[in-house]
Amino acid sequence: MSYAVTLIPGDGIGPELADATRNVLEATGLVFDWDIQLAGEATIATEGTPLPERVIDSIRRTGVALKGPITTPIGSGFRSVNVGLRQALELYANVRPARSLVGVKTRYTDVDLVIVRENTEDLYAGIEHRVGPDAAESIKIITRGASQRIARYAFEHAVRNGRRKVTAVHKANIMKLSDGLFLESCQQIAAEYDGRVAFEDRIVDNMCMQLVQKPELYDVLVLPNLYGDIVSDLAAGLVGGLGVAPGANIGDRAAVFEPVHGSAPKYAGQDRANPTALILSAALMLRHLGETAVADTVEGATRAVIAEGRTVTYDLGGTAGTQAFGAAVAERVRDAR
Ligand code: NAD
Repeated sequence: MSYAVTLIPGDGIGPELADATRNVLEATGLVFDWDIQLAGEATIATEGTPLPERVIDSIRRTGVALKGPITTPIGSGFRSVNVGLRQALELYANVRPARSLVGVKTRYTDVDLVIVRENTEDLYAGIEHRVGPDAAESIKIITRGASQRIARYAFEHAVRNGRRKVTAVHKANIMKLSDGLFLESCQQIAAEYDGRVAFEDRIVDNMCMQLVQKPELYDVLVLPNLYGDIVSDLAAGLVGGLGVAPGANIGDRAAVFEPVHGSAPKYAGQDRANPTALILSAALMLRHLGETAVADTVEGATRAVIAEGRTVTYDLGGTAGTQAFGAAVAERVRDAR
């Protein structure tokens, strides 16, 4: 049996990270039928768009994509490929685990968070306008449907992964109607999981302070779009930053797995960038495909190579290249089979 997966190498450091990650995935013994789809800077020149329709068609067909970062051209009039994919495929949940890694120097050793961010509405719905020359207005959209959908996703994620608690994050003390509706929707869904997964809520400013002071108290966080964007970067910072932060965008019919970081153009083509975030995103993809044991192996191998510290990239204090790191992880995966 083989898994059909759309592979979008992306641009900048993306293609080299994709090579290293494929090397790891192929060491698992699973068979992948890769549908390689170019998108980004290169296709602007050849196809007039960074996100050709064929890319979306491919993901609709396979249901799963592994994606490298893509440069968002500034001021070119092209919208972000990431936003385009999210909208076209209705990827309503942005999921970012943040777990401490032995060997990555940070202030914390025991962080294990999953940030579940609503991905379709809030101030990111893109409804804003100028009100005369000296004022502007952005509209914050919160609906019960989208809020309940993301809350249910957070609770289901908790149940599937043996997590103990979901914390809803909001500012309902000030935005009583919009954030109030988000909180109420989370409370309604929480009642269905009573006795299985604990529930609590926190005001977003207080949540930020607590995450910095005692992140070990928190488990799964569910947030509307804007707070989710900000708090997920905070969480990535707690565990070592961009090079090691994986992510997933999940919808009912398709899912796209990608690192949190961008295309880091200054490192492109130098075999220097850290592929950990894409490899860990691939592990999330394996979990999504139901390959839990293989996902554990890939994660374990990645963590072991980092903990050992001999074959790590510059950002983790080493001198190894992107492909050497990927090869070291792949070797451990093979040994573990
Ligand atoms: P960036 O994440 O690309 O890079 C910022 C810095 O972080 C880099 O200069 C580098 O020092 C470090 N870094 C990032 N990834 C790394 C890795 N894997 N290994 C080692 N170091 C790493 O952010 P940016 O410079 O703000 O954005 C560059 C481009 O990427 C922009 O066009 C932006 O729009 C795009 N972007 C794309 C995505 C995506 O495709 N999902 C996400 C964020 C940014």
